[in-house]
Amino acid sequence: MSAKRVRARRASDTRWLYRVEDEMFRYNGPANAERSMAFLRALARRVWRACGNGRALPSINAGAGLRWQGRLTSYCAGFTEIVLARHHRNIVVLLHELTHALGPCLHGPKFIRVYFPLLQRFAGYNRWFLEGVAATRGVRL
Ligand SMILES: [Zn+2]
Repeated sequence: MSAKRVRARRASDTRWLYRVEDEMFRYNGPANAERSMAFLRALARRVWRACGNGRALPSINAGAGLRWQGRLTSYCAGFTEIVLARHHRNIVVLLHELTHALGPCLHGPKFIRVYFPLLQRFAGYNRWFLEGVAATRGVRL
């Protein structure tokens, strides 16, 4: 695949994932409710004990976020720091950023195969629902 097509595919993967989060994952109220940083740090420790594979847990910090396409967004800096923007302090965004910290930098199939099981285990999403969403992108969990 040419570099241009690789970039286009990555951009498409990101658009698809953000759309799924905005339009489909939003209906799980508790997973999208605003949480305290103390709650989110405690959940991150639980996730890491179960799935961290012995890596150091990144620090989980409140911050302004980075500007991306006109809005502030949360991010994972390398594998060591997660910054949650004001409107992103919820379980779904935390699990998204922890997925980056577990390895996949991009939002392709590998990301989906790590992120969606975390959503099932720690955010209460239904397995069949997640499998159906992943299948629309050609990904098997
Ligand atoms: Zn991401």
